[in-house]
Amino acid sequence: MALGTFDRDDNIALLGAGTYDVLVIGGGITGAGVALDAASRGLRTALVERDDFASGTSSKSSKLVHGGLRYLQNGDVRLVYEALRERQRLLRNAPHLVKVLPFLIPVFTGRGGIIPKQVARALGSAMWMYDLTGGLRIGKVHRRLRADAARAHMPTLGDRLAWAYLYYDAQTDDARLTLAIARTAALDHGATVVNHAAVTGLLRSPGGRVAGAVVDTGAAGGPVEVRARAVVNATGVWADDVRALDEGSHPHTIRPAKGIHITVPWDKVRNDIAAVVPVPKDRRSVFVVPWPGDDGTVGGPGSVTYVGTTDTDYDGDVDDPQCTPDDIAYLLDALNHSLTEPLAPSDVLATWAGLRPLVSDATSSRTADLSRRHRVTVSDSGMVTVTGGKLTTYREMAEHTVDAAVGVVGDALPRRAGRSRTRKLPLRGAEGWDEARLADPHLAERYGGEAPVVEAMVASDPSLGEPLIPGLPYRRAEALYAVRYEMATTLDDVLARRTRARLRNRDATAAAADDVAALVGAELGWSEATCAAEVAAYREAARRERQVPGLPEVAALAGGA
Ligand SMILES: Cc1cc2nc3c(=O)[nH]c(=O)nc-3n(C[C@H](O)[C@H](O)[C@H](O)COP(=O)(O)OP(=O)(O)OC[C@H]3O[C@@H](n4cnc5c(N)ncnc54)[C@H](O)[C@@H]3O)c2cc1C
Repeated sequence: MALGTFDRDDNIALLGAGTYDVLVIGGGITGAGVALDAASRGLRTALVERDDFASGTSSKSSKLVHGGLRYLQNGDVRLVYEALRERQRLLRNAPHLVKVLPFLIPVFTGRGGIIPKQVARALGSAMWMYDLTGGLRIGKVHRRLRADAARAHMPTLGDRLAWAYLYYDAQTDDARLTLAIARTAALDHGATVVNHAAVTGLLRSPGGRVAGAVVDTGAAGGPVEVRARAVVNATGVWADDVRALDEGSHPHTIRPAKGIHITVPWDKVRNDIAAVVPVPKDRRSVFVVPWPGDDGTVGGPGSVTYVGTTDTDYDGDVDDPQCTPDDIAYLLDALNHSLTEPLAPSDVLATWAGLRPLVSDATSSRTADLSRRHRVTVSDSGMVTVTGGKLTTYREMAEHTVDAAVGVVGDALPRRAGRSRTRKLPLRGAEGWDEARLADPHLAERYGGEAPVVEAMVASDPSLGEPLIPGLPYRRAEALYAVRYEMATTLDDVLARRTRARLRNRDATAAAADDVAALVGAELGWSEATCAAEVAAYREAARRERQVPGLPEVAALAGGA
């Protein structure tokens, strides 16, 4: 039985009543993880998110739950070990959302047809290191494949392919994983969780300690004062802004690094597994990842492939990172260097740009060299800030952060708060996933054991089984489910994060915006004017996302094979 509620109004009503043990600011994967860790220890917990859950970096990642082969090259063995341990926990705690994914590393012949021995040797050592550091836990070790066996997975690799390595990592839906963690915190452990609720100031105790925050939910009655014994700042690239509310000046500890992805039609790449392809004239590589279509299988109708990422220093507006023409050219060059059939900007169906909240390090000139480790700090007035890290390691970051918060509050917290319980804690949807996937793989991979609720909606109104956007693998029922059970309150919440339609085909979602607004607006009680404003805002954001990098409008919808 549910302990808490995921209804936004009900949660807002709870915010102002009584004192929380822990108030978490920021609803990305880090803040959601902290809220779940705290609530599952039995602490009275609240989480407030300024925009939507995962609307910051946590919906714009490469969506890999991985150790990161690259970090081994930087000698960061411990980071890889810890990440692979967390990968294993996630595969067990969220089997519906985190899947094992095989990866190819193609090795091409050089101009003279020979691969330098040291390249082959270095790659082989890295593969063994990865297995030994924890890759093995997945139950499979890497293999070397002949060129024809590798091309069977990705026929577009062409004749220059000499051989390839095959290894294993895992893939997730970053925004839905974040949402599942927030819902688990609320529904199973009683946390109060509110999106579209910004912290605009901090409350202080008479002794000057941080004792809560002023939160603007947009509700009539104005901002709410939320009291808490410990306040955690988990706001990613905005962490310094929130620290400035506490410390009075901007500490400049975060060095944002931009990373972008592009989505292309699957049938232009035809990869049934992921690949890591080298970037010419750079010591980086990019991921080429298939995204399954309608029936949950790669290559089925609606399948796409996404490619990323870049890694560049960013000093623009952190609220509005955009892809540039150079970013698009970088990824298309890398792809076209490895593929036989070149892709052009007109093949780009969608893009997304995110900012890594890297912890600043004055000695490093490239953001790609900065550590992905996290840092937990406590200010003089007791505010706990967590920065850095990766999607993959969110649970461990959360554990360390709540340990620090418990340390701040000390004896005022209940005894049971001592130890994290999340290592073996299943996320919402894990239970019943096995049965659900037999009934409907597409729904099961998104909702796990909660898929029958969506199926029941379709059973009572078959029109809700129709596609939400023509050509994309989402049903109309999913938009209503997002509003009723997942706290979606805007068109973008539904199209970019509850479904990932905007990341698959941006222009198709803009074209269908009126229809989707009418569907969800009826549920949310939108007036005609609100519907029109939502559609206009969504279309404007989609137009900018296409125009800033100079991409043409996508004429046809992406089809699968
Ligand atoms: C291009 C790219 C690819 C990546 N790929 C991977 C990958 O494949 N695997 C992996 O493990 N990691 C990956 N990462 C890293 C990972 O995505 C990030 O480490 C992680 O998402 C950061 O989460 P966060 O919660 O700290 O920040 P965010 O997700 O940005 O969350 C911070 C939240 O705080 C909110 N906020 C800000 N100010 C306030 C306020 N005043 N009041 C209330 N809320 C506020 C924001 O709205 C935001 O939602 C990638 C990162 C990038 C950029």
